[in-house]
Amino acid sequence: MAADDRNAFEVYRDRVDRPLGRLFREYGASEAHWLVIGMVANVVARVAGLIPPVVLGVAIDAVFTGSGPYTLPIVPDAWLPTAEPAQFRLSVLLIFGSFIVTGVFTYVYGIAANNFAHRVMHAVRTDSFDQMQRLDMTFFDDKQTGEVMSVLNNDASNLEVFLDNALQNSARLGVMVVGIATVLVYYNYELAVVTLAAIPLMFLFTLWFMRAVEPRYVAQRSVVGDLNTALENALSGVELVKTSNTEAHESERVEDASFSYFRRTMSILRLNYVYRPGMELLAGLAFAATFAVGGFWLANGPPGPFTTELTVGTFVTFVLLTQQFVAPLAEVSNIIDQYENAKASCERVFGLRDIPVRIEDDGDAVELGGSAQSDGGTRNDGGVTPAGDPDHGGVAGAVEYDDVSFAYPENALVDPEDADEEVLSGVSFSADPGDTVALVGPTGAGKSTLLKLLLRLYDVTDGAIRVDGHDVRDVTVESLRSSVGYVAQDTTLFDGTIAENIRYGRFTRIDEADVDEGEVRDRVVEAAKAAEAHEFIASLPNGYETRIGERGVKLSGGQRQRLAIARVVLQDPAILILDEATSAVDTETEMLIQRSLDRLAADRTTFVIAHRLSTVTDADAALVLEDGEVVERGSHDELLAADGLYAKLWGVQAGEIDELPEEFVERARERHVDRAVERATETEVDSETPD
Ligand code: ADP
Repeated sequence: MAADDRNAFEVYRDRVDRPLGRLFREYGASEAHWLVIGMVANVVARVAGLIPPVVLGVAIDAVFTGSGPYTLPIVPDAWLPTAEPAQFRLSVLLIFGSFIVTGVFTYVYGIAANNFAHRVMHAVRTDSFDQMQRLDMTFFDDKQTGEVMSVLNNDASNLEVFLDNALQNSARLGVMVVGIATVLVYYNYELAVVTLAAIPLMFLFTLWFMRAVEPRYVAQRSVVGDLNTALENALSGVELVKTSNTEAHESERVEDASFSYFRRTMSILRLNYVYRPGMELLAGLAFAATFAVGGFWLANGPPGPFTTELTVGTFVTFVLLTQQFVAPLAEVSNIIDQYENAKASCERVFGLRDIPVRIEDDGDAVELGGSAQSDGGTRNDGGVTPAGDPDHGGVAGAVEYDDVSFAYPENALVDPEDADEEVLSGVSFSADPGDTVALVGPTGAGKSTLLKLLLRLYDVTDGAIRVDGHDVRDVTVESLRSSVGYVAQDTTLFDGTIAENIRYGRFTRIDEADVDEGEVRDRVVEAAKAAEAHEFIASLPNGYETRIGERGVKLSGGQRQRLAIARVVLQDPAILILDEATSAVDTETEMLIQRSLDRLAADRTTFVIAHRLSTVTDADAALVLEDGEVVERGSHDELLAADGLYAKLWGVQAGEIDELPEEFVERARERHVDRAVERATETEVDSETPD
């Protein structure tokens, strides 16, 4: 086990420093104009909201009780009317106007603030997805897909809520507190002391709340992780759950996790419901004290140490403005909630962002088969090269493994030196263009791993793999992968039409590529024919336009495989990797598949992971792997004559001997028990690590 048994995602997430600051720097800066417009509009709208109580107070004193002059803050007295009816009309106009201003600027603020929040969210989501696609296979081996989904969905939404709501509500709160306090002090600083005495108390109370609630949020997030793991396990392993009758056990796990989540959430809410009414109580106290002291003041003159005069109008202004405090204060707990969520989400976003990508183009990477491609256009952009192009875009397809060793990196994303036990050691062989090489050996011998290295899904730990003399690490990943076709045992089909699935990877988007649609259609049909898939496709209700995948018709294993073959026919790579299916299809289908594969392999360098020894007899050479090493090599006949592992495997399959000799079985058993125990312990630790 690695010293640090958290996965890469967790490690990088915990290393993120001041995540929200980084969010503003990396994403906020380019959209800052929206934020500024939103903030300014917000301030204008809120300040306009302070006008009615002020004007009302002034009007009461000047127009109704005649106890004071008609003056307004900021506005020079010379501009104001002196006759009472005109003062009244102006007051009405001002109050009416301020509501219109509030309305208009609230609209502007809404548009700008949402533009800011959603643009940032969009950028975060697409960048995170791009980064996710660049990550090495090692990342996905850790099965962190659930977490990635959550970054793309929940975390991006949390940020949006924060950037829109929380940010603007805190701005509004700030404006209200400062604006109201200024007006109150301006009109009567003595009574203002009474009203504003609650503010420091509210501040302290909020500090206490934030300190108390923060650890509860941390605890809540960790149980959310547990809950997601429990859900994901049960869903992805549904077949195992059903066949093992463990529904009750899974329900119990989910129930436990869900109940912990409930308890953690309640513990946050309990605090929330102390805080919220507490704040309202303090605001209410401020209001009651203002009302009591102000009322006494009006009736009996300044109480206690106070000396200034208080008019009815000022008193009304005080009472109305104090009331306006309450609503934004009630938002504080929401702001804190949104802030906490956003901080955690932001850590995850940048945690994902910071995971280093190791398999990437080197600065001076060359195009595999570069010279020929520049004539015919890049193969991947849809530039049409003739079908069955003998030249394969300039790639001949000579493959050489030079003393290759490989260990699956335990936690390579965290520490590249940290590698597990070797899965391949000192593998050397070469294949000439057009050769077919069969890979044979017991399960776990390293056959798939060997070929994944050719596709550069992982990098060799030692040694080198060369295609046409170029180290695969020195050519562009794109040119390498478009020169190597891969037909997996289990074919992945996407939601879409048959035709889209066949041209996926070669003419993925016809509308964008500079190609003739009709020609591509012909090529797709041609490829399907070569893959023996045309007939069944033609018999489907909409032919090539039939939807398959999640929301379309379901295809059989044999049909899916033929689509995968058609896909590779269209790709027309110089090198081909076939993982022979072990699952049985009927004899007729098998014959069709075999025929199409033979056709496909005819003019390319082909590597077959052979499960049927008949495949080996047709190959130019076979490599027998055992425990990561090439133990035998040669043609079928040579291998039989050598009377080693191959001869034994062949004997078992041909029914000539009943079982493998004890020594092979024993060796295999030891190897597998060791590995199985190791893997099982790892899995258990993984699934029990919270979050
Ligand atoms: P084969 O194709 O011959 O059955 P593989 O190449 O799949 O063998 O596996 C070789 C060894 O590598 C096995 O011990 C297997 O457990 C291990 N292995 C395969 N894939 C991974 C992976 N993604 N991470 C860690 N170990 C792996």
